Parts: sequence; C-alpha cells; structure tokens
Amino acid sequence: MAPSTRASLALAAEARFIDELLREFPHFRIVYKNRDSLSNAIDVALRVLSFGRQDRYLTQYRTVIGDTLYVPDTWDHTPPVDRLICLRHERVHLRQRRRYGTLGMAMLYLFVPLPAGCAWFRARMEWEAYVETLRATAEWYGVDALKTPSLRAEMVQRFAGPDYLWMWPFRAAVGRWFDVAVAEIEGSIERGTASEGPSIADE
Ligand SMILES: [Zn+2]
Repeated sequence: MAPSTRASLALAAEARFIDELLREFPHFRIVYKNRDSLSNAIDVALRVLSFGRQDRYLTQYRTVIGDTLYVPDTWDHTPPVDRLICLRHERVHLRQRRRYGTLGMAMLYLFVPLPAGCAWFRARMEWEAYVETLRATAEWYGVDALKTPSLRAEMVQRFAGPDYLWMWPFRAAVGRWFDVAVAEIEGSIERGTASEGPSIADE
C-alpha cells in the first residue's frame, strides 16, 4: 500500500475508532503532557526512580490514567496510522482499568509484586497491550514489519530495561512472548481473522 493511501485510510479509521472508543468510554479525552501538572510530577518521579535513564516520559510516551490519554506535544504531527496503533494499545489499558477498577489497576500496575525490577502485573498488562500494538502494526504495515530483528530487540529492551523500571528483566522470556505473539498474529492474518486494519494486503 502506498504511504499516502495508508495515511488517508488511517485518518478515516482513526475517526471511526475514536467514535467507537467514546461509545465504550464516554469520558475518554486526550490531554497534552507538557501542560499537565500530574504528568510533570510523574516525569520527575520516573527520572529519580530510574536513575535518570527514563527521561522520555513527557516527550515519547503515551499514557492512559483513568479515562484520559496523556500525549506528548508531537501527537498532532504523528502520522494517523501511528496514532491509531497507539489508540489500539491504549484501549487495552482502558479495558483493563474497567476489569480491575481504577484503584485495583493502579495498585497492581504500580506495586505487584514490586514497584521496579519485577513487576509481574505491569508486565502482563503491558504485554496484553503490546500484543495489540503488534497486531495493529501487522494489519497496517504488513506482517513482515514484525520480523525486523530491531523490533524484537526493542520490545525485549522495553520490558527488561529502564523504560518501565525493569518491569520484567528476563530477556529470554520476553523474547519468547514476542515470538509466540508474532506467530499467532501471522496465523490470524493468514486465516483472514485479523480485526480492524485495512482490508487491503500490503504490496
Ligand atoms: Zn501500555
């Protein structure tokens, strides 16, 4: 698919997706992190807890808290397809919040069993959301986009490294999760059971 075709399809798909999201979560809204005091406080805390190694919270990470998606200032200039992929990841977190309750999710995500170094619930919640990221990526960019070695290494680093405070520092395990997810996504796309991406196969 030509990039311009993908962009215009994604723009329409993003609008439909936000409509759906608002029907499911009527209080959903998007807030810019830079202008938000809670986000700035989290940024400071993460810099301290990660010994300065997670310093991209305000500029690169999108974060759902409650019904609000907090985004960097670059959100409006992000390609629509990448915004849509992000929204699919964040919808998983919104549904987790509904499943566990706001307080339950916060406690599990932040503290169980440890706030850093071994955060099983955070790792499982993020993994569930990243599988959706991978699925959406395959639907929009083609399944081969999942097979670049750098993506696997990046995902392993994201779970095992400082980005989420070393939430699951078992690199081989994360690598296996990744391989299983890619195989399942590839299988579902081959069977034609993929969900919300474009119906046009990649060229
Ligand atoms: Zn996430």
